Amino acid sequence: MKLELNPQQRAAREEFRAFVAAEIAPHAGCWDRAAAIPMELVDRLRERGYLGSNVAAEYGGPGRDNVTYGLLTEEIAKGCSSVRSLLTVHDMVAHVIGRWGSPGQRERYLPAMARGEILGAFCLSEPNAGSDAKSVETVARDDGDAWVLDGRKKWTTFGQIAGLFLVLAQLEGKPTAFLVERDLPGVTVRPLSGVTGTRASMLAEIFFAGCRVPKENLIGKPGFGVSAVMSTALDHGRYSVAWGAVGLAQACLDASRAYAAERRQFGVPIADHQLVRRMLTNIIAEVRAARLLCLRAGWLRDTRDPGATGEIWVAKYFASTMATRAALDAVQIHGANGCSEDFPVERYLRDSRVLEIIEGSTQIQQITIPLFELQEL
Ligand SMILES: Cc1cc2nc3c(=O)[nH]c(=O)nc-3n(C[C@H](O)[C@H](O)[C@H](O)COP(=O)(O)OP(=O)(O)OC[C@H]3O[C@@H](n4cnc5c(N)ncnc54)[C@H](O)[C@@H]3O)c2cc1C
Repeated sequence: MKLELNPQQRAAREEFRAFVAAEIAPHAGCWDRAAAIPMELVDRLRERGYLGSNVAAEYGGPGRDNVTYGLLTEEIAKGCSSVRSLLTVHDMVAHVIGRWGSPGQRERYLPAMARGEILGAFCLSEPNAGSDAKSVETVARDDGDAWVLDGRKKWTTFGQIAGLFLVLAQLEGKPTAFLVERDLPGVTVRPLSGVTGTRASMLAEIFFAGCRVPKENLIGKPGFGVSAVMSTALDHGRYSVAWGAVGLAQACLDASRAYAAERRQFGVPIADHQLVRRMLTNIIAEVRAARLLCLRAGWLRDTRDPGATGEIWVAKYFASTMATRAALDAVQIHGANGCSEDFPVERYLRDSRVLEIIEGSTQIQQITIPLFELQEL
């Protein structure tokens, strides 16, 4: 296994880092308070080819390898977890279309998604269905020349601006996935606000009322919605969130290191107090360990190793729980300032909570990861 980045990957990371330092990190607190990102930023992400990283070159995508995609996600998350979540959900939908889409679906959506002209959003969760994906209550029925969808989705990241929804619904009692364009009659988008973390991720509830979806927009097969389609999306989402957690924890470390060197108590910088150093040490060690897990998962993905999926579960579990610990220590190191929105660690702590809930909660991971070891998955 190669742990060193190659020269192209190192150069790409420098490019991502410079972009985030100039165009994302300075504004993230403001976007968090506004509960939105500006459309100009989406344009900049499009121009840089940062949306649709995983779209194959034959459909106009950059065809980034998985390690480079991870580095992009880490750097973006270092600046702003909400922007990271845009990459995550958009790329989840593109990933699914690349894997399960018919030739017609690929032609119709992937080039536009690679250019970022259509933003994808992932619609699984509902008021009564979260971890238990198979229990969704949205229904689809066959009505001759169309599928008719009725139901309600909740917590749809960037649902406010997405143009294409990947929707899980019950078709004759079997979970089935559909690609639903936002401007179809019968689709209503209602913004959601007041979330703890990733506040600028422009969440929405999506309502479907007698929404007629073209027959060709069923993706995968009837009944394959959870076992194949949504699992593929979530595999990619977990990979992205794992790297996002590394970026968030690195931001905690950068902020804490600077603060601990600057802030003086008892006549010395607080970094000279051993208990503060212990907190810094824990963040340093854990963020490196999480990054190595992510690199390994990316390498396994790039080499099409069947063990990649299990490794991604482990990376997401460790990285997301590690990010919570790092954010808690970062706030502690900042004292009262850590509780103030004048310092970014307050936002990092709120954002870290979300990472342990999305793409499989910590508890779902604790149940699932041993199954890979026991070879039950
Ligand atoms: C900011 C944000 C963005 C989101 N974006 C999206 C999105 O874009 N698309 C989307 O579809 N969803 C999205 N979600 C929803 C997210 O995927 C769900 O919150 C997640 O799947 C958990 O579901 P739930 O909230 O219904 O919790 P529940 O499933 O009700 O779980 C509640 C608690 O019970 C625990 N639990 C559940 N089952 C078990 C079990 N078998 N054993 C042990 N413990 C269990 C959970 O770990 C959790 O602690 C988002 C959520 C947030 C907060």
